[in-house]
Parts: sequence; C-alpha cells; structure tokens
Amino acid sequence: MRNENHMKLEFVSKSSNEAFARVVVAAFASQLDPTIEEISDIKTAVSEAVTNSIIHGYENSEGIVTIECKIIDNIIEIIIEDDGKGINNLEKALEPFYTSRPELERSGMGFTVMETFMDDLEVISEPEKGTKVKMTK
Ligand code: ATP
Ligand code: MG
Repeated sequence: MRNENHMKLEFVSKSSNEAFARVVVAAFASQLDPTIEEISDIKTAVSEAVTNSIIHGYENSEGIVTIECKIIDNIIEIIIEDDGKGINNLEKALEPFYTSRPELERSGMGFTVMETFMDDLEVISEPEKGTKVKMTK
C-alpha cells in the first residue's frame, strides 16, 4: 500500500522557534524509519531554511513561517515559506559564500548546506512577496 501522510505547522518568526520547528519536522520524519544521519541532515536543512526566513525574510520583525511536510512512499517533501521581503537576485543568493548580511557574521552557506544535506532543493522567491523553499529526501 502507498504510504501517504501530511502535516502543516505555522509559527511566529522568533528565533526561539527555530529549535522547535526542527524537532517537529524530525519527529514527523521519524515514521520513515530514517537513520540517525538522515534525521540529522533533515534537522540541519530545516534549521537553515527557518533561520533564513526569520533573519532575512522578516529581518527579525514578526511574521509567520509555515512548514508543510508531505510523505509519499519513502520520500519526504518539506516546504518552508515566509511572506517576508523576498530575494532580489536568487542566482547570486544560491552561490556558496554569498551573504547579504556579512555584518551579522553569516557565512553565506545556508543554501549550500540545504543542497548538500537534502536530495533536492528548489527555491521560489519574489521581492516584497516572500520565499518558498522546497526540499526532498
Ligand atoms: P548563513 O546561512 O551561512 O548564516 P546566509 O543566511 O547569508 O548565511 P544563505 O542561507 O545561503 O546565507 O542565504 C543567502 C542569501 O539569500 C542571504 O544572505 C539572503 O540575502 C538571501 N535569503 C535567503 N533566504 C531568504 C529569505 N527567506 N528571505 C529573504 N532573503 C533570503
Ligand atoms: Mg542562511
């Protein structure tokens, strides 16, 4: 039988919610019987995407971050979305070591980490509208 499941989570863009989001996604993913390494990869990727929504999307003002997870057979799709300021130059943003906030001591490796730890990464973003990050594993 086909294994299908779905969940949606919504929270305020406070940095204290980052750990919470990553644990919820890990708990949902655990029904796939992942290895410890796979769970750790998912947590790392979720953490990077959520942190981006909080510090770049909403620039630490309050907004809503949404996470949707879908399981279809043995694959999990994770969608992390904000209605923040969006990304002007997506191609540049995806480059390793590019950061728009060097003063915050960011290293510009978030998207590269998501790409490395997940099997697939897709970013859709519109300036002044928001950003949607889709990852699968
Ligand atoms: P690091 O993740 O290593 O701390 P970083 O966040 O700057 O540094 P990335 O996560 O790779 O690096 O993101 C690259 C750039 O893309 C950011 O500097 C920011 O300009 C832009 N960006 C990423 N996510 C968002 C988002 N949700 N909303 C607006 N801009 C974003
Ligand atoms: Mg980042």
